[in-house]
Amino acid sequence: MLLPLLLSFLSGQGSDGAALERALAAVQPAAIRSDVYFIASDELEGRDSPSAGLRLAARFIRARLERLGWQPMGEPRADGTHGWFDEYKLTRQGLDLEQSGLVLARGGQQRRLVPGQDYYFFGDVAPLELTGPVVHVGAGSKADYEGKDLAGKWALAVASEKVGWRDRSQALASSGALGMLVAPDPGSKEPAEWWKGSAIERSSVEGNEGGGRRGGGPPQHFLSTAAAAEILAGAAPGSTLDLVVTEKRVTGAEHVDVLENVCGFWPGSDPVLSKEVIVLSAHYDHVGLQGGVIHNGADDNGSGTCGLLAVAEALKHYGPMRRSVLLMWVSGEEKGLWGSAAWTKKPTLAEGYRAVCNLNIDMIGRNAPDYLLITPTKEMQQYNGLTKLAEAFGPLEGFPKLGSADQYWSRSDHASFSENLKIPVAFLFSDVHEDYHQPGDDPEKLDYDKIARVVRLVVRMLDGLQGDALGV
Ligand SMILES: [Zn+2]
Repeated sequence: MLLPLLLSFLSGQGSDGAALERALAAVQPAAIRSDVYFIASDELEGRDSPSAGLRLAARFIRARLERLGWQPMGEPRADGTHGWFDEYKLTRQGLDLEQSGLVLARGGQQRRLVPGQDYYFFGDVAPLELTGPVVHVGAGSKADYEGKDLAGKWALAVASEKVGWRDRSQALASSGALGMLVAPDPGSKEPAEWWKGSAIERSSVEGNEGGGRRGGGPPQHFLSTAAAAEILAGAAPGSTLDLVVTEKRVTGAEHVDVLENVCGFWPGSDPVLSKEVIVLSAHYDHVGLQGGVIHNGADDNGSGTCGLLAVAEALKHYGPMRRSVLLMWVSGEEKGLWGSAAWTKKPTLAEGYRAVCNLNIDMIGRNAPDYLLITPTKEMQQYNGLTKLAEAFGPLEGFPKLGSADQYWSRSDHASFSENLKIPVAFLFSDVHEDYHQPGDDPEKLDYDKIARVVRLVVRMLDGLQGDALGV
């Protein structure tokens, strides 16, 4: 009963039946498929943020938008026009590896251990110099410190399954020690190399202040097996070693990368309602190379990226809607929603225009053909008319019942729109699978008919949002 009522309500409220039929007919699984085979090709090397592959993907999207007659609505220029890209800066600063290190002084001899090679750590790259003797504190439990004065000294712990990382850190923090050198557990297959991935750099992203990794408490350095053997030199637990360790951190040069969101605008036809902009988003970045292996991210999020391109093509066949539509391909999602955070803190819309809602699509091409999730469901206080529209139109596209993606509420870019712009949002998602963030997330595994049906659902929702009142 609900559906006919809703449809009759909509038909008197700005929905254009003939235009909608034209738009839906333009959504072709084969076209989406050919786009995904480009976006998720090895040549784009997994579209890391930042990377050359990501910039190529952005230029492919821009070329398509231009060809389809969309307008640029990225970075505003002095003359009132806009570029295609919304740019934001990623600033990175690492250690000066020539000058930084742990200097071991023993019997008149000095040797420097190099960060990222002989030892690893999490934390800041701000200049620092700490010098002191070294006390062997066994496995580094609270009891291991009893009766020892660590003020002005380094603690050296040998990692052990018996003392967890958290307990060891807490014991260190209350000991008054300068910091800790951690030798690998000789009984474990998890030597210091495990920490190799820890980035010794400080990064900040424009629009995403407060992001980035910060180490709290005294420094902890994870020694390589060879470095640990050199420092320990057979010393027993409880003893003071016959060497002095100086840690030097010297900050290296600042490195700035520019990241891009691609913004295409479809102006509305209604003189008043066209100022209200419906934003559709999908992230076009992925996780790049991991350990030298390309992660193509066909489903994550080649599916949503090319799904939005299909929306761009469908709207060309629809013609103008009463409200304006902004398609936005955001970068940096995998790093922490960087692109959507940057845009929502500094929207690039022309003066007088405002974003009124956001629909985000991410991973829409895998799992069962009728399986599609949405958030917010009515279990959440953010529940709104977008979810109701999706539930009403879903059955027309082979999604008889939408499942809940509420547990993914904060995991993709709609969260930035909700948090920073306080507008109604919804997120369509067909869930994770065995290839999620794995090298096997490849184009041949996607269900292109399913992606096309999700796109058609999105087009129906856009059409359903053209009433005098937005109704969400
Ligand atoms: Zn994703």
